[in-house]
Amino acid sequence: MIYNTLGKTGLEVSRLGFGTMRLPTKNDNADIDKKEASEMLEYGIENGINIIDTAYPYHAPGLGGSGESEKFLGEFLSENSLRDEIILQTKSPSWAIEEKSDFECYLNRQLEKLQTDYIDIYLLHSLTVPDWNKVKNLDVLDFLDDCLSSGKVKHVGFSSHIEVDYLIEILDEYPKWEVVLTQMNYLDEYYQSGVMGLNYLKDINVGSMIMEPLRGGRLVQNIPKEIQALWDSAEVKRTPVEWALQYLWNRDDVDCVLSGMTSLSQVKENIELASKTDVISPNDGELIREVARTYRTFIGNRCTRCGYCMPCPHGVDIINCLSEYNIAHMMGDPKASAMQYFSLIDDDSRADSCVDCKECLPFCTQMLNIPEELEKVHEYFGDEFDHF
Ligand code: SF4
Ligand code: SF4
Repeated sequence: MIYNTLGKTGLEVSRLGFGTMRLPTKNDNADIDKKEASEMLEYGIENGINIIDTAYPYHAPGLGGSGESEKFLGEFLSENSLRDEIILQTKSPSWAIEEKSDFECYLNRQLEKLQTDYIDIYLLHSLTVPDWNKVKNLDVLDFLDDCLSSGKVKHVGFSSHIEVDYLIEILDEYPKWEVVLTQMNYLDEYYQSGVMGLNYLKDINVGSMIMEPLRGGRLVQNIPKEIQALWDSAEVKRTPVEWALQYLWNRDDVDCVLSGMTSLSQVKENIELASKTDVISPNDGELIREVARTYRTFIGNRCTRCGYCMPCPHGVDIINCLSEYNIAHMMGDPKASAMQYFSLIDDDSRADSCVDCKECLPFCTQMLNIPEELEKVHEYFGDEFDHF
């Protein structure tokens, strides 16, 4: 296993982190197959993984409620006396916080579920701009100060899918941030905070952790023949998983890549890859960019995310509505995109909030009929998340 220093935390973390949002299950999402999941964790820890990531809602029956992942992890770590051997990361459900006392309540419930009296890294989970403004008004920074001084939490940070300017704004408001978890893979260099966000984190020595390295598995499953032909043309042969992970591990602004693994074979494969040095050459880099360009030809609309149409006077999040629709077409995975669409975009900012006023039309750099495109988005995703 290769280890990196996680920014100013000073922690030496395995460059592969164990994400526990997609553990093997039996009957439904909340029914974790504890035997198989335990074998996976045991193997991972024995073979060098030293950081495990979870969150309050992982493996909940629906979106956002209390999940089974933290509870299972608490049992596993306690039964195997492993709590102090690993770096444990979990997250505060920012969207669920309604009053100041909720921060403490959730943290205490999480400590109880995890059967521990401290969290190594505590992140504000999936911060959107409205949620950031809400938690800031509820004195979240005082809460984080208290967590750090009481020792309940060793390091604080946040996870987010926001654009780079908002990411920087949040980072600049609190000097004690030590870790940020953002989405990144070779398709997302300029999506959300992307490479610019990672560069900024490196500049200010905040630890960078990566989520969705395989885009929820879509970069490695059902590979379109056009993409496979490109991989087959490479000088150095790699599997799609190797391409995706080595691309990230070759970046000097990435400290740790979280992978939500679902089977023991995946754990073994990822550990083997995380344990060897594999240099991505300039030719390899060009091939990866060609693969990304080819994936982008499968999009559903021509929105470039330039942002000239925003803000919509009726609050529609035009960019992200059109983007999630595009990603669904590009990756052929409506369920994963629907989950993003319904969890990241507030209900009054989704496509069905468009009132067809046409005020945005003159601003679209791609001459898109935005209300028509939004109608397609709404038809595609529907009114509510029922894609489980
Ligand atoms: S047409 Fe729809 S998206 Fe465009 S400005 Fe009006 S409400 Fe907003
Ligand atoms: S102006 Fe057009 S291309 Fe630019 S973000 Fe808006 S919809 Fe997309």
